[in-house]
Amino acid sequence: MARVALVTGGQRGIGAAISEELQKAGRKVVASYAGNDEAARAFTERTGISCYKFNVADFAQCEEAIKKIQAEVGPIEVLVNNAGITRDATMKRLSRQMWDDVIDTNLGSCYNLCKLVWDGMNERKFGRIVNIGSINGQAGQYGQVNYAAAKSGIHGFTKALAQEGARLGITVNAIAPGYVDTEMVRAVPPDVLEKIVARIPRGRLGKAEDIARGVAFLTADENDFITGSTLSINGGQHMY
Ligand code: NDP
Repeated sequence: MARVALVTGGQRGIGAAISEELQKAGRKVVASYAGNDEAARAFTERTGISCYKFNVADFAQCEEAIKKIQAEVGPIEVLVNNAGITRDATMKRLSRQMWDDVIDTNLGSCYNLCKLVWDGMNERKFGRIVNIGSINGQAGQYGQVNYAAAKSGIHGFTKALAQEGARLGITVNAIAPGYVDTEMVRAVPPDVLEKIVARIPRGRLGKAEDIARGVAFLTADENDFITGSTLSINGGQHMY
């Protein structure tokens, strides 16, 4: 039986590429999303992958959704914590709300979803978890104190949880993408983007598929000796 893989934020951007790559790898994929019903509908129509709408920052909503997915599709054995947001501002303008939103959505979601699938993975002695961090969690970024803190937190979260999972057949890894051509990056002003690309040794932005291939690699059944690691996929921009 195909293992069930949940990809949060899995119906557009990097998440959509991850969902499709895992489907290609033979997983039974389900995607989650926050509110973009149109993208979800089009994605399901194109790929056959079911989408579930819930807020990954809200534990109660996650709990309800995980129950529903497991009842309808099966036990979640592969989890990709990909959903994320930015609310950029320098410290002078960074409100408490912007801080909380980014921490809760990017980092709090990793707790929520790992917590909810952990017991099942323990019982079955199998699990593959990948958390999507960021180059800006490794290197920091001007105007992204909230985002850099959340993504940096993901890297610590990954290493700690990997230690708990190691004897249970559960691997926990992270991927730190560099700048990838998605809506999130298209929101960056063109002059700033040009300067960013000039600093990428590979000479281009990443593609969502570059990240998706890394997720498929880390979540393969046979890949049970890589855990607690962060795979940087960034065109050589930051060697960590
Ligand atoms: P997008 O903005 O293109 O997509 C974000 C996805 O997350 C959407 O599916 C969105 O759902 C979902 N989402 C956002 N907030 C929530 C929420 N509260 N609950 C549930 N789902 C939510 O992002 P990218 O594809 O660019 O980024 C994907 C991941 O990669 C993020 O974690 C990001 O931080 C990280 N990353 C991206 C980089 C880049 O260059 N793009 C670089 C480094 C890291 P909906 O469509 O309904 O809004």
